[in-house]
Amino acid sequence: MKTLRLSTDLQHQIRHHCADCYPLEACGLLIGWGDDVVTNIVTSPNLARHPATGFELDPALIIQHQKQSRLGNDRILGHYHSHPDGQAQPSAQDQAQNHDPELIWVIVQVTGGIALGLKAFATDPETGQLISIPLQAEKI
Ligand SMILES: [Zn+2]
Repeated sequence: MKTLRLSTDLQHQIRHHCADCYPLEACGLLIGWGDDVVTNIVTSPNLARHPATGFELDPALIIQHQKQSRLGNDRILGHYHSHPDGQAQPSAQDQAQNHDPELIWVIVQVTGGIALGLKAFATDPETGQLISIPLQAEKI
């Protein structure tokens, strides 16, 4: 099973961005190396038509980081988004939007403007559904 290595400092940055965007959904990229080591996050504008109930990453930001990874820099491991007044669980819409089985998803529960639970998910190769994966916070 995959894991996600995400330092407490980066978790704090993600929570901070998600709380800032409340009551709208926040989103951004998880940048790093190997299968699961996140070294940086990049905040994205949420381009969804209804940003209170969905998210859409900025495609220009994705292309920019794909170019950088071809130059030997860290690559996109996945992305994060928030669920304002929801749960840190993939919604039916998230499951339907999961087009790339390689990407790791982080979902943050933001309740009343305060970022609470933060969980990581990856695609189950058997079912194609996003399932919870372990999160490791220690430094590499
Ligand atoms: Zn969602």
